[in-house]
Amino acid sequence: MTVITFIFFILVLLFSLKYAWWAPSIDKNETRIMMYHMISDQLANSKKSGLRVSPNMFEQHLEYFSNNGWTFIKMSEIEEYDNSEKVVAITFDDGYLDNYTQAYPLLKKYNACATLYLVVDRHDNDWSIKKNPKHNKGILAKEKKLSDDQIQEMILSGVFELGGHTISHPYLPDLTFNEKFDEINNCKDVLEKKFNTKVHSFAYPFGIYEDEDIKIVSNSDFNSAVSTNEGIASLKSIYDLKRIKASGKDNFFAFKIRVLKGFRGYI
Ligand SMILES: [Zn+2]
Repeated sequence: MTVITFIFFILVLLFSLKYAWWAPSIDKNETRIMMYHMISDQLANSKKSGLRVSPNMFEQHLEYFSNNGWTFIKMSEIEEYDNSEKVVAITFDDGYLDNYTQAYPLLKKYNACATLYLVVDRHDNDWSIKKNPKHNKGILAKEKKLSDDQIQEMILSGVFELGGHTISHPYLPDLTFNEKFDEINNCKDVLEKKFNTKVHSFAYPFGIYEDEDIKIVSNSDFNSAVSTNEGIASLKSIYDLKRIKASGKDNFFAFKIRVLKGFRGYI
């Protein structure tokens, strides 16, 4: 083997580890649930964040789904579309202001819709330290969140529906059963009353949960729940649905690999 062949082999290997082009594509009848947080350009002088998908890239995602015959649905409709071909549910977690300023106009432009998993107490709430005290740089806490008026407009337009994401975005393993129950069960009632709407689906904060949490969610009149586990959802586990991560670190090729295979790669 010459040096050039060897280098070529290593490059192909690295490419194939980063992008799982070789993995089998998941059946088009399996609904894709996309997970977004912010639609925003990266911050200057900050480490690149996967949570920030640029408006330009988000538009490319919507264009891809729209031009390739995918149907956009809300999470409340997921069971109706079970076994239909090319169905995608766009979801947003937490409630960042750019969901109104950036995502909402683009969703309208492409006749798309989305489910927003909204934290009730989202203003001045630094939830990143609840999971890992060392984790915090205060960046997410400083990020502007949606106002109630904006949310009301987004729901009334029919483009968005609300999902539950607890009252305060706690780290569930730190809570007692009763505290968990209050966070999960009450967020549904509070959102439904405040916005005069129905809340059907739930997202576990930080994507961290155990069997007990699944039981609370299913007993709280939610019809489905999503995690942050990467992959293509199976409706057989309706309270433990995987999502496809939309990452601000990805190029468009990586996005397509994720949509087809459920994950990008290993490195
Ligand atoms: Zn969250």
